[in-house]
Amino acid sequence: MAQPTKRILPPLLEESTFDKVLDKLSEIVGEPNASRNHLYGNLEGPQGQNCYDDLWPLGNPTDHTPSGAVRPKTVNEIQRVLQIANEYKLPLWTVSRGRNLGYGGSGAIVPGSVILDLHRMNKIIEVNEELAYAIVEPGVSFFDLYEYIQDRGYRLWPSCPALGWGSIVGNTLDRGFGYTPNGEHAEQQCGMEVVLATGEVLRTGMGALSGSPMWALYKGGYGPSVDGLFYQSNLGVVTKIGIHLTPAPACFMDCVVSVPNEEDIGALVRIMSALEREGIVQNHASIANPYRQALSSEDPLVIGRAVGPGIKGGYATNADMTKLAKEQGWGYWKAHFAIYGASGAFIDACWTIVQERFAAIPGAAATAERHEHKLGGRLNAADLPMGEIPHTGYPRLTAKDFVDIRGAKGGHIAFSPLFPPDGKQLQEWFARIRPLVEKAGFDLFSDFHIFGRYIIGIVLVVYTPAEAARAKSLFDELLKDGVERSSVSEYRTHIHFMDEVRRHYDWGNGILHRTLGSIKKTLDPNGILSQGKSGIWTSSRPLTEAIGNTRL
Ligand SMILES: Cc1cc2nc3c(=O)[nH]c(=O)nc-3n(C[C@H](O)[C@H](O)[C@H](O)COP(=O)(O)OP(=O)(O)OC[C@H]3O[C@@H](n4cnc5c(N)ncnc54)[C@H](O)[C@@H]3O)c2cc1C
Repeated sequence: MAQPTKRILPPLLEESTFDKVLDKLSEIVGEPNASRNHLYGNLEGPQGQNCYDDLWPLGNPTDHTPSGAVRPKTVNEIQRVLQIANEYKLPLWTVSRGRNLGYGGSGAIVPGSVILDLHRMNKIIEVNEELAYAIVEPGVSFFDLYEYIQDRGYRLWPSCPALGWGSIVGNTLDRGFGYTPNGEHAEQQCGMEVVLATGEVLRTGMGALSGSPMWALYKGGYGPSVDGLFYQSNLGVVTKIGIHLTPAPACFMDCVVSVPNEEDIGALVRIMSALEREGIVQNHASIANPYRQALSSEDPLVIGRAVGPGIKGGYATNADMTKLAKEQGWGYWKAHFAIYGASGAFIDACWTIVQERFAAIPGAAATAERHEHKLGGRLNAADLPMGEIPHTGYPRLTAKDFVDIRGAKGGHIAFSPLFPPDGKQLQEWFARIRPLVEKAGFDLFSDFHIFGRYIIGIVLVVYTPAEAARAKSLFDELLKDGVERSSVSEYRTHIHFMDEVRRHYDWGNGILHRTLGSIKKTLDPNGILSQGKSGIWTSSRPLTEAIGNTRL
């Protein structure tokens, strides 16, 4: 946690003016819901933090430190906060629950921004069991929706990321993912309510047709769609979304396929993605290397072998982790996915096809755990084993302990490049970056996500505060290597790298960037909303000079 000696202020505001602004914001939301500095008021973080900040800073500890926070409860309060922000040109940074760990948490790109924290807006507006959708406010967590559904006995399996305490709205807007068949959250979002920087409220899609019952059912609406403008964006404050949920299946199979060699990754992902495209496997597969597999072991000796070197400041070598995998009878790669169906016959037929396809890889091993509702009804996720990955949507927090594996107060950044699903490019890239990670002295933590038409090849860099500069250098190197040697870049990034990744998306002399910049200037001329998010700015010379961003 950053403990600055000097008070952090919004750029371009005198201290006395800022105090006046805080008084006005407090009048709107009530004093307990305004933080007059960044040190209190946030939901508790993974290591007990209550501050607003990038909890695991990569550079100067105050590079992304906010000056305070405001926690409105209603759309009307947001509108009034935006009015003050426009009047004083106060930079805000919007979060729903502020748990964007690994991507900057509740830190802001412009230091001294005031965090617009929406976690108090936590109403579940509607859950429709038959049509399998929910409409939620930003403060609703994955735990909240799961519990709401359990309390009412609805036969639905809402999706959930590895950590259930984040917000459905925040995770979806950042294009996050969970692990049920409806796990690509951005694909499942249907209908949105947004407060624009002017304070006007916009409803997208069928929400624009007053009284329509179709808001969370038909995404398109009439004419151009604008939902995409609010993804990884700073063009508005999203206050509601509709999200589609997975109907609880009658049968469920939790499946694992292991392949023996590092070089098998190409074939593994090619077969896996085809199974997903064809609907034989209905969720996305997570793929783990030996180090990642060791962390999920229940044997303390195995875990110790993986994390021991890191605790001493070194790293688990790929050679030793490969040896460990062989000793344990694991493959080098483990793919973990699930099959969902309305009958036992359906999932058995799918599983037979899965086994036949993977038989093409010498040494591949496939195992599955099968569950079928005895009376022909639908399965309740709460009655099934929790499983290593939330394939049933059962929320948990277990993965948060990963961040401390190299020592207390650790953190991580997730290098998240996109690849085509044929596996060739991923295989070449992995062979190239593995030595880079080892050379930088970090554990090789691969957590690849295989979808029908793309792969997110996440390399998690776990670091202690003392290793932050080295982690940043490695990340810089991975970004440069990816874009220069494979023409790949990230689908989502940490706030520290947003301008850099924006520059990678430069086709047509950066026309996309310029178009987004024009929209930003039109919708938010005073630049009050999340300046710099995804590299999009309402450029203003005084602001960029004040924050020392010479690259703009
Ligand atoms: C161990 C570990 C495992 C993780 N596993 C996963 C995983 O499986 N899947 C995954 O996707 N992520 C994962 N993450 C990353 C992250 O924790 C989650 O994505 C988390 O849900 C994001 O936090 P949040 O929902 O509170 O989002 P927030 O921090 O509230 O929001 C994220 C971003 O979205 C924008 N935003 C948020 N709300 C609004 C709004 N109302 N209007 C406009 N813009 C808004 C902001 O730019 C904000 O920075 C993991 C992180 C860790 C540490």
